[in-house]
Amino acid sequence: MRSVSSGEGGTQAAQKGNDKAIIMTEIKTLIERDIDRRGFLKCMQWAGAGVVWSFAAGVPTSRLLGAPKTRAEDFAFVQISDSHIGFDKAANPDVTGTFQAAVDRINALEKQPDFILHTGDLSHLAKAAEFDTLDQLLRGLHQKQTFFVPGEHDLLGDDGKQYMERFGQGSNGRGWQSFDHKGVHFIGLNNASQLEGMGSIGDQQMAWLKSDVAKLAASTPIVVFAHIPLWAAYPEWGWATKDSAQALDLLKRFGSVTVLNGHIHQVMQKV
Ligand SMILES: [Zn+2]
Ligand SMILES: [Zn+2]
Repeated sequence: MRSVSSGEGGTQAAQKGNDKAIIMTEIKTLIERDIDRRGFLKCMQWAGAGVVWSFAAGVPTSRLLGAPKTRAEDFAFVQISDSHIGFDKAANPDVTGTFQAAVDRINALEKQPDFILHTGDLSHLAKAAEFDTLDQLLRGLHQKQTFFVPGEHDLLGDDGKQYMERFGQGSNGRGWQSFDHKGVHFIGLNNASQLEGMGSIGDQQMAWLKSDVAKLAASTPIVVFAHIPLWAAYPEWGWATKDSAQALDLLKRFGSVTVLNGHIHQVMQKV
């Protein structure tokens, strides 16, 4: 595994001669060298950002919202994350305004995305009023279809009960889900639930994942979205999923796997 910096707009990088390599593409324009220990500044940078993912012939590339489209695409979706509605401290005193700006940028796309993915930390403290505000903001989107996975902030206090009631419809267990779209298989994982220093997928979700992908041909492009990075980037900081190796193992036979996460700004692709 190696880390590579992406080009303008966070495009996909390819590593020749090693098709098993897992390539991490950093969305360089969003990332700062100096990493905040709690990952919080990274989260806040997500608040107003969004990434447009476009697929052409099963191959995904990404660009930041607002960056020009550089190639023809079969379809596109937008990833938003870490809206942290309810937060009001110095790192971002106006998260609502910041998120509204992201909504406006999505609405301004020349072609609307097929759907939106929110990769968690919708709210800051999982309060009803925060979820209400997010709901209102999302209603302003032209594209009404949004899929969610929870971040650890959405599970505070009630262990995700409210999150599940409001944003977990159609998902399994504690918010995991999958769907197919134009030949691509999308898998949303909850790896924020059992945080004990590190995110964890857990046995129940792992068994579901195993059966979910069992029926798929190895040529099916896969997109996994989860709040916490699946790979052990900074395990000592809680930025990794404990049993991620097991999950990635289940995905090994597939030719194209892209893992999207929130929490920090990195994307992992196997090409
Ligand atoms: Zn966050
Ligand atoms: Zn988080």
